[in-house]
Amino acid sequence: MGCKNICYRYKAERIFGVPRYESGHKRCSICEVFLEWDGRHCPCCGYMLRTKPKEGKSRQKMLVKSVKRI
Ligand SMILES: [Zn+2]
Ligand SMILES: [Zn+2]
Repeated sequence: MGCKNICYRYKAERIFGVPRYESGHKRCSICEVFLEWDGRHCPCCGYMLRTKPKEGKSRQKMLVKSVKRI
């Protein structure tokens, strides 16, 4: 088992300014790559993917800034 080099097809492009996990990307610690993949497991190696950096309380960032309407 391990990386079968399938993961490159699902490799997530980095979105500038958006944290990896918040952009819906999941990390496979086997393939060591971020994936855009709906499943819980890596399509390549079958290992469980990480979807969040940490469990627990999510700090409320200033996601909801006041929406300015002109
Ligand atoms: Zn892989
Ligand atoms: Zn993998």
